[in-house]
Amino acid sequence: MPELPEVETICRSLEPKIIGHRIEKIAVFNDKTIKSPSPQLFAASLQGEEITGLDRWGKYLIIEIGSSLVLVVHLRMTGRLLFVDAGDSVSKYARVIFYLDQGKELHFHDVRKFGTMHMVKRQQLDDFPPFQVLGYDALDQRLNLSVFMDMLKGRRGQVKGLLLNQSFIAGIGNIYANEILWKSGIQPQRTADSLNFREQERLYQAMRDIIELAIKHHGTTLRDYVDGDGNRGEFQNMLSVHGREGEPCLSCGERVVKIKQGGRGTYFCPSCQD
Ligand SMILES: [Zn+2]
Repeated sequence: MPELPEVETICRSLEPKIIGHRIEKIAVFNDKTIKSPSPQLFAASLQGEEITGLDRWGKYLIIEIGSSLVLVVHLRMTGRLLFVDAGDSVSKYARVIFYLDQGKELHFHDVRKFGTMHMVKRQQLDDFPPFQVLGYDALDQRLNLSVFMDMLKGRRGQVKGLLLNQSFIAGIGNIYANEILWKSGIQPQRTADSLNFREQERLYQAMRDIIELAIKHHGTTLRDYVDGDGNRGEFQNMLSVHGREGEPCLSCGERVVKIKQGGRGTYFCPSCQD
């Protein structure tokens, strides 16, 4: 699933291209992609409107339309947003196509069909239910070390699960949670309330460092992810533990271990992480 660095990379690749384009027509090939309103009203409301901005919160893409509408997109497992020339071949996995002016198109491509789109009035965005329970974005400036430490207070769950909890911090998924915990030297089954001051600080710094480094390398492509131009990420070549079961730890040479936590694969170094 695309996590914060992948969604941010998509944002950065699309932003200079789609802003200023007018939506001439919309074709919805999979009704279930459009969560609200109805696909008919969705298409009718957006037709003729201009794309005015692009933003992100956690794993959500926020496309600003005209002055009063917002399109909230979640890519889930396999969603892609691709900016292409009109007349380029259309994949059978294209679920929604936005036909833009100046001979351009934006394709929402989604093999597994779990991706979603909501059209929301801009002034009602704060009331959009998924946003009401979403935590600070992992890169939010307001999320400084002292705020992070305050948020950890009273949390008794395992630290890996907490990093994945989007209402705690938005944007981190399984790959980056594994990498962040390795970089901070924290065993993933530790409970949040067992972390001392130094460990909390290391966790915070590793979160910022790993995410920024992954964005710099255009995210991680293990299977499906590509940016708005169809380019793969490069961070899969820089993963320290994720997907490296049995291979030597890059820091100490001990073999990387894989366990299951909450149904997800957790990779860690039993020597560096305690
Ligand atoms: Zn190690």
